[in-house]
Amino acid sequence: MQDLQQLQEEALALFECLDTPHALEDAKARYLGKTGALTERLKSLGSLPHEARKEVGAQINQVKSVISAALEERRQALAKQQQDRELSASALDITLPGRQMVERGGAHPVSRTLERIETLFHGMGFAVAEGPEIESESYNFSALNIPDDHPARAMHDTFYLAPGYVLRTHTSPVQVRYLESHPLPVRIIAPGRVYRCDSDVTHTPMFHQVEGLWVADSGISLAVLKGLLSEFMRAFFERKDLPTRFRPSFFPFTEPSAEMDIGCVICAGQGCRVCSHTGWLEVLGCGLVQPKVLVPLGIDPERYTGLAFGLGVERLAMIRYGVDDLRTFYENDLRFLRRFQ
Ligand SMILES: [Zn+2]
Repeated sequence: MQDLQQLQEEALALFECLDTPHALEDAKARYLGKTGALTERLKSLGSLPHEARKEVGAQINQVKSVISAALEERRQALAKQQQDRELSASALDITLPGRQMVERGGAHPVSRTLERIETLFHGMGFAVAEGPEIESESYNFSALNIPDDHPARAMHDTFYLAPGYVLRTHTSPVQVRYLESHPLPVRIIAPGRVYRCDSDVTHTPMFHQVEGLWVADSGISLAVLKGLLSEFMRAFFERKDLPTRFRPSFFPFTEPSAEMDIGCVICAGQGCRVCSHTGWLEVLGCGLVQPKVLVPLGIDPERYTGLAFGLGVERLAMIRYGVDDLRTFYENDLRFLRRFQ
């Protein structure tokens, strides 16, 4: 028994002196391993008289559990020391709060809407065409069959620059420029900034338009126009069953002309403030290209037919995102803009 006590004290003292996990595991083998001192003693129990076996066995097991516990305690202490050493060596304080990173920006909701419109029309075979924002009166008006006395030419609608030049009031002149410089058939959309003297809840002096033009010698009709635009609106608003309707209208550069409505996506046609309780939202103007636009470009209207449409990008963005004041898009209020990221 004295011998066992001595063994226990020796083991505990040894564990305390050892300062690496490796040395500690070696020491463990000396006592608890297959040929360790305690294991050997347990093996030798068989040679003891029957009555002594039980008592000595219990004593050995008692010492064994004390040594095991001391071993485990020392293991944990060494692991903790090791961790402390590593932490102080790396000089990295993981408890410090992180540094403020550069804030990530995002595309403006109008840019996102424009990209979405371009992607959808691209998928329907339309190329993207661009043109100047400072435009001659002849491209902006005359080439589009807009007569000299048309109200759109009046000072209160148009920003006039040097004599004969305006900030374009629509992107339709891009279509004329494109027809002048490209062979038929032509299938394009013309997205871009346009300008009008106007500012209220649904108008800003600068806004974005996408105009579309498709001129070919076959395959174009009012039915195709309706199908194309209905398909586009259903894809844009992600509503397969979105109702659409076309109302007769007038534009100098199309004949016949129509305004297109979609079923109100806010109230599903039930009537609400946004749709003025009609259940319908006006989304674009369209029609078949007026022959008077084609003839000066050397295009024979007996052989070629065109379809055209024009939509306001901000208008579609307002409906899609449920924004009720167009001007908020251009106030650069980050609280508003962050909602779209
Ligand atoms: Zn509504």
